[in-house]
Amino acid sequence: LPTVLIVGRPNVGKSALFNRLIRRREAIVYNTPDDHVTRDIREGIAKLGDLRFRVLDSAGLEAAASSGSILGRTAEITANILSKSQFAIFLIAARDGLQPMDLQVGKWLRRHAQGISTILVMNKSESLDDGDGSLTTASGEAYRLGFGDPIPISAETGFGMAELYGALRPLLEEYMVQVLNGEVTKGSSPSESEDSKLPLQLAIVGRPNVGKSTLLNTLLQEDRVLVGPEAGLTRDSIRAQFQYEGRTIYMVDTAGWLERTKQEKGPASLSIMQTRKNLMRAQIVVLVLDAEEIAKARRSMKHAEVVIARHAVEEGRGLVVVVNKMDLLKGRQNSKLYDNVTGAVPQEIQKLIPQVTGIPVVFVSALEGRGRKAIMRQVIETYEKWCLRLSTARLNRWLCKVMSRHSWKDQATQAKIKYFTQVKGRPPTFVAFVKGSTDLSDTEIRFLTKSLMDDFNIGGIPIRILQRSLS
Ligand code: GDP
Repeated sequence: LPTVLIVGRPNVGKSALFNRLIRRREAIVYNTPDDHVTRDIREGIAKLGDLRFRVLDSAGLEAAASSGSILGRTAEITANILSKSQFAIFLIAARDGLQPMDLQVGKWLRRHAQGISTILVMNKSESLDDGDGSLTTASGEAYRLGFGDPIPISAETGFGMAELYGALRPLLEEYMVQVLNGEVTKGSSPSESEDSKLPLQLAIVGRPNVGKSTLLNTLLQEDRVLVGPEAGLTRDSIRAQFQYEGRTIYMVDTAGWLERTKQEKGPASLSIMQTRKNLMRAQIVVLVLDAEEIAKARRSMKHAEVVIARHAVEEGRGLVVVVNKMDLLKGRQNSKLYDNVTGAVPQEIQKLIPQVTGIPVVFVSALEGRGRKAIMRQVIETYEKWCLRLSTARLNRWLCKVMSRHSWKDQATQAKIKYFTQVKGRPPTFVAFVKGSTDLSDTEIRFLTKSLMDDFNIGGIPIRILQRSLS
């Protein structure tokens, strides 16, 4: 689905518009709102007439804010999200008149939204009308922003939604055609190198007492920066941040579980609901397991851990499994117990999560402060694979080779696939264009996935292959 990001200064009604677009459908909240100003990104599937698109509600974008402050950070996050969207709705409010901050947002958008179609939408227009000229005046003023004529709407009453539909429809349709033709717009495909240089969002998840807090300290070392809480940030969104080999790594929802683990030590189990929510904010998920428990139970993952691991993969997140507390197995290195852990865990994970081949498994002892390098190497490698982009030319050369070296049972697959293209990275998503209405079988999809992983060295991450029929 194409992605539309709503941007604008606070209080123009971004969330109201977002709510109207997604109606009663569920929104994924990346952070939580405080009293009036939402400072987080919400995501939902918008329904507007027969249009469906992904809509993101950005908030708290204040271009003037100095970096390092909360607003600066929000702007940075918003820019990151903008670069992954295809369209932006620049929202202003008619009733308030044009404000200096609107101009700043406009300036910011011109700088950051290159190649992203932006439409200007004027909210709170329900009481304006052309009879007294108020609509014309407000529109004229808004025109000065340089984003064309505004579309007057009211997110509250629903006024103007038909016009909004009219403006979005041709844009979205054009985009869909481009996707179908394999020529995706620039906005959605920043280059490989740019992409993988963006801050990496990392979540550490696991049951209480597996050593997440200890591990976090190992990762942060002296670079520790605990961020927040500042006014406007709820505790849940406090993040730790550190640098690793020139990269910025954000630890997602660190404070959330730090608090919880303190309170819930003991029999508390992994909160699947909470963890799922946090996974949505992360790009790479580190799932921590306890080596001693594995050795005792002779089983690599408990049910909740399997659920979380599968969920991460299904949501297209990169997964790195860390088996902690290896020190407790010391001295038993030649025993059956030890072999069981290092040998069996990767194999078992492969069986439990067959969609992804070669999920990285790292064995560490956070208590001994070891494992930072080993973990981060896997995290970054996984992230780079996750961001990978392959050109259509390269993919089709590859397709020819793959087809010729594999003898399909029915020999028909080769004729079925006309061409193959990558529509996005993060995670790599491909489209196979097939002739007519003959779908590729699961076996064929599995084979293509496996070949992509092997030939481009992108094992260990979720890869998606979609198919479209060329009639
Ligand atoms: P969390 O609930 O997942 O955050 O777990 P903690 O980091 O609070 O660790 C739980 C307990 O396990 C603490 O007593 C830690 O000292 C201990 N622990 C953490 N990592 C290791 C490790 O690598 N080896 C050993 N032996 N103990 C560890």
